[in-house]
Amino acid sequence: MRLPFLRPAAVAPVAAVPPDSPAPPAPPVDDGIMLETVGLTKAYAGADGELPVLSGIDLTVRSGEIVALLGRSGSGKSTLLRCLAGLLPPSSGTVRYRGTPLTGANPGTALVFQTFALLPWLTVRQNVELGLEARGVPPRERARAADQAIDLIGLAGFESAYPRELSGGMRQRVGFARALVVEPDVLMMDEPFSALDVLTAENLRGELMELWESGQFPTRAVVLVTHNIEEAVLMADRIVVLGSRPYGTIRETVEVDLDRPRDRDCAAFDELVDRVYRIMTGRPKETRPPGRPDPGRADANRPDRRTLATTPLPTASVDGLSGLAEMIAHRGGRCDLADLADELGLDIDDMLPQVDALDLLGFAEIHGDDLLLTEDGTAFAHADVQDSRALFAAAAVEVPLVRLITNSLRGEAGATVRAGFFRDLLAHHYTSEQVDRQLETATDWGRYAGLFGYDAARREYRLDEAFPGTMLP
Ligand code: ADP
Ligand code: MG
Repeated sequence: MRLPFLRPAAVAPVAAVPPDSPAPPAPPVDDGIMLETVGLTKAYAGADGELPVLSGIDLTVRSGEIVALLGRSGSGKSTLLRCLAGLLPPSSGTVRYRGTPLTGANPGTALVFQTFALLPWLTVRQNVELGLEARGVPPRERARAADQAIDLIGLAGFESAYPRELSGGMRQRVGFARALVVEPDVLMMDEPFSALDVLTAENLRGELMELWESGQFPTRAVVLVTHNIEEAVLMADRIVVLGSRPYGTIRETVEVDLDRPRDRDCAAFDELVDRVYRIMTGRPKETRPPGRPDPGRADANRPDRRTLATTPLPTASVDGLSGLAEMIAHRGGRCDLADLADELGLDIDDMLPQVDALDLLGFAEIHGDDLLLTEDGTAFAHADVQDSRALFAAAAVEVPLVRLITNSLRGEAGATVRAGFFRDLLAHHYTSEQVDRQLETATDWGRYAGLFGYDAARREYRLDEAFPGTMLP
């Protein structure tokens, strides 16, 4: 079906309002560049003032393309999307929409969120009409445009339903319809499939790609935020990989020139997934020079060079990282992570914090696409509970935050230290959310290692009575 308000994504002129309203003023230039950031930096408040979350982001989104912003949790994807949408002002640098620097909400974008953000007391049609109401479109036009968007996105028949009557997949369709009904130049999606079950997500992705590929999508470009490598390779023309060590920067941009519709089962697809995976797991270029190490440069991952600021604790519990170590051990001490993730029905990137943790503890190393247990890692995976705790303790005290907590307790009369002390130290380098996550991980690791305990009521760390400090070298 060809709907009247629809047009090929990259060809027809832009109309942010329905067809029979007066034409909007012509855009100043059309060089195909929809969005552009130059030297974009964004910082949030921390103890020492501003803490950068994004730094030096130069990004261009052109008409006709789908750009994926790919990175782990915390790498600043949502922050970047909000800057592009004009919902957050940059700390420095500029964001332009069709050549004009933004001074507020970006008029050429509409957003789809991970959680559906629907108003429960409004019907599907009313929820979809909201965006048009805000733009002052008269009621009859609104109803017509909403019905078209509802049809397009596969919600026909659900117009009068309330959100609570809908499945997750149907609710997310309402989210899409609400964004598409305004025919934004650029549709922005922040992990739009990650709250859905696997099959529903796959189905919705497929339908959206069909619309896009057939030119029926009423937007000129798409920016997709995702932490899912396969989703990025399946959907995007360009994948912008954001790294988070130490701050959100563009690590690398990967062009995806696979034919559409894309086939997940072809070798070229797998190769790209592997390549992107290597970019995400690899050390940033500046800390791992290729070939012979340059003696003038510090390798930030060398145990003696690690500091609190350069070595954030990944969000991985001892249970989780032990589980991964055991699975690699069962597979002979070496395995291809993509294959392992596949077998377990997980996304590779769901396992990255555990991979990081094993790497940080010296229990595993990344070689190409494979994860290899080290000698210590093999011993750890095979050890009984007592031995495993001792091995874990010996490895964990080499990790800066765990070492700091352990050492602070040692020097302290009565051997308790308030969590606030560590919180303040970390706050010089990380935002409060990052500080919380790291302290949670450190507590889990310290408890298992028997290095220290944590009294949540008193918010104090204390030496573990059962292990009176014999572990530290
Ligand atoms: P992503 O979407 O890639 O997970 P975000 O952009 O949400 O990343 O967050 C990037 C970093 O900025 C995270 O470490 C997060 O803790 C921090 N952060 C996000 N929003 C805020 C905020 N409003 N105040 C302080 N820190 C924030
Ligand atoms: Mg996010």
